Amino acid sequence: MLCSLRFFSTALLFCLTVATTASAASTSDHFRLPTVQHTPGGVAIIDLGERDAAAPTATFNDIPVAVVNTNQGYRALVGIPLSTKPGWHTLKIKYADGASALHEFEVESKDYPEQHITIKNKRQVNPNETDMVRIKKDRTSIANAKRYRHDATLGLRFDLPTEGIRSSSFGSRRFFNKQPRNPHGGMDIAAPEGTPVYAPADGYVVEASDYFFSGNCIFLGHGQGLQTFYAHLSKIDVKPGEMVKRGQKIGEVGATGRVTGAHLHWSVGLNRTWVDPELFLVE
Ligand SMILES: [Zn+2]
Repeated sequence: MLCSLRFFSTALLFCLTVATTASAASTSDHFRLPTVQHTPGGVAIIDLGERDAAAPTATFNDIPVAVVNTNQGYRALVGIPLSTKPGWHTLKIKYADGASALHEFEVESKDYPEQHITIKNKRQVNPNETDMVRIKKDRTSIANAKRYRHDATLGLRFDLPTEGIRSSSFGSRRFFNKQPRNPHGGMDIAAPEGTPVYAPADGYVVEASDYFFSGNCIFLGHGQGLQTFYAHLSKIDVKPGEMVKRGQKIGEVGATGRVTGAHLHWSVGLNRTWVDPELFLVE
């Protein structure tokens, strides 16, 4: 989630595409299941059985996952953390009648590229003691926001939240000033400061805050632990606790936090882990 970017440099850029928020998709398109990808940073969709029974629950790594009632029955949507080792993994299922089951699914390896970024503000790479106090506080706030979930499913697919030049650098193994850091947990969309950012689906404002690395940012909850996250904003238009409608302006693109230029960092979270936003686009 800690994000930075150098769009206008010789740093690695992947699959640049012009992003546009205009969506001709119907409402039902926004409730299609995400694209399946059994890799670190991907999504597994597991059949949990008949739709007429009461809803089962399921956990992965002891964290509740989203369970959606589809025309074909209940499906668990499992966000696979970028740190997941390739191999077989287990979803624990609990049915409404008290019965439980284990479902094994295989995660294949995915080779995410390296990305080298130079940050001029050295404190943003090697924070001092005062910064560390703030960073620890931020981490607690972020963990609390990621833990938030409500039951109603407000959307499963997303419009792009802003117009700009988008890179598919999700998962890239990042080096800031040659030092290894967390992999990139989102999609970056380069756009001038002040470009509007829109809610990509109906949602609930879980958190709106200013963090050391992410700058001004917003967490939206879309139900069952599906979340979207917006970082480096110049302006925030919403407050925690508010409901937002798809297409509603929630803020503006900026260059706050650890960045090398104005852009939107956009993440999609499932069961408290960041997954590839591309898997959730309506387009
Ligand atoms: Zn980013």
